[in-house]
Order: sequence, then structure tokens, then C-alpha cells
Amino acid sequence: MTLDCELRDADEPLLHADDMAALRGDGVFETILVRRGRALNLEAHLKRLAQSAAMLELPEQNAQEWRDAVAMAVQRWGDRREGVLRLVYSRGREYAGSAVTAYVLVSPLNQRVHQARSSGVTVISLERGYASDLKEYAPWLLLGAKTLSYAVNMAAIRYAARNGADDVIFVSSDGYVLEGPRSTVMILRGRELVTPPVDYGVLPGTTQRAVFDMADEHGFQASYAPLTVVDLLNADGAWLVSSVALGARITSVNGIRMPEPKLALDVARLIDRAVEKAD
Ligand code: PLP
Repeated sequence: MTLDCELRDADEPLLHADDMAALRGDGVFETILVRRGRALNLEAHLKRLAQSAAMLELPEQNAQEWRDAVAMAVQRWGDRREGVLRLVYSRGREYAGSAVTAYVLVSPLNQRVHQARSSGVTVISLERGYASDLKEYAPWLLLGAKTLSYAVNMAAIRYAARNGADDVIFVSSDGYVLEGPRSTVMILRGRELVTPPVDYGVLPGTTQRAVFDMADEHGFQASYAPLTVVDLLNADGAWLVSSVALGARITSVNGIRMPEPKLALDVARLIDRAVEKAD
């Protein structure tokens, strides 16, 4: 579905060969869970899409046009099964003047997601290659924007797989936990949920934000604080949090097992309620 609400055949080509999404990864995107015929936490995703676009100096888009295209795509998808909705927005064709490319698509969840939700994930920590304060003085690195340039993130996940782990936790050059290649890191200490500060150059997670907004109602506190890998191992539980997998419990870090948290079910319920209720 393109932003003009024109329904496209999923088996027909949509992008031109010189689209800047393909040539440079020059664009932004969002990934949203579709459940029971709704795009969950849509407004937070639209807000982040607009913020990412502004960081890339892409023309401002009309949020209502996204909402309309999402509504049509979700309606076509139906309410019987979950889906992964993506909003994609690139600078458009290299030689086509000012026309941008914008579309939404829905696809089925892959098996990995079901596995992560039910059995959790093993992770390894990998260097991200920058210090936790880099965002402050290097805006051209687009830290905190959800750009289409995910090749490094995907490479890290393949590296983890080759080393027997399901996923990755990126660590800054000064030793702080940043985020997963497609998730926010969240730990539990007592009844306090803690996540790394966004000014460490991590993507501001919409799921983590929704969870923090509702934490109080479920008897949890929530805070942002610098974390190390040792903090993770000493925590009463740790999760990779994201829109589609929701809460994937971390079962081991660098081969060291993390026992099942006593409050695992409560945290899972909080995450579920938070994303269902966010809009
Ligand atoms: N960090 C990165 C790098 C991501 O790619 C994602 C999600 O794709 C997240 C964090 C989690 O964000 P959200 O909860 O909005 O899905």
C-alpha cells in the first residue's frame, strides 16, 4: 500500500532500481505489531518516524496519510492472525527530483519471534565501536534514528548465530550496555525496571516507553541508568524488548545462564498490556 492509499500487488515490483533506499539505505522505517486487527502503539511509531525523518532531513510527511494507509493495510490483513506492519519512507529516486518513496506492508511473523517469546533468547555482548557520549557531538551518525541502514545490525546477528547465540547486546567502547540490533535492553532489579539512557545513542524504544508509562499501575518502578554486562548478570531478570517480539527474556549472556525471574509472568503481562493500551 503506497501512501496515496493505492493497493499494490505484493508480487509486483514497487521500487525503482535507483531508489535511494536500495542504493544508499537512505530512508527511515518503523516496524509495528498488528494484533486483532489493530496496529499497536501506532502513534508512538508515527512520532518516531517523523523524528527519524527530521534527523535525515527528509521532507515532513502528513501523519494522517500514514494513518490512512495503515488502516487500509491492517483492514486487508484482517484480525485472525498477528502481522508485522512496516512503514518505509525513503528519499526516493536518485534522479527523480523531489518525489519521495513511502509505503506500508504487512507480512506474517517469522518463527524466530514465536521462539523468542516462548523460550527467551541467548545473547552475546558485542562492541558497537563508539563511546556512550558520541551522540552529543556527532549528529551525522544519526544515532537514535531508525534508518534503513541495518546492514551492521544484521551482520551482528549473523555473527551471534555463528557463535551459538540467538541475539546480541551492543556495548559502547567505554563499557556500557547500549541496545540490541533490533530491541531495547531492559532489566529488573527488585521491582524496578531499568533501561540505558537514550542519550547513549540508542533508539528510543516505543515498547519500552509504553512499558515505563504503565509500570506504576502494575506495581513496578521504572528508570533510565547506565548498565554494564555485569549489571545484567546480577539483575533479577533481563529482556530484549521490541514491538514484534515484545519481551524476549534473556536466558544467558556470553554463555552465563540467567535463571528464570520470579516476576517473569508479571513483566510479560505488563509488556502485553502496555502495547495493547498505548494508543
Ligand atoms: N533498538 C533498535 C536498534 C531497534 O531496531 C528496535 C526495534 O526495531 C528497538 C530498539 C526497539 O524499538 P521498538 O520497541 O519501538 O520496536
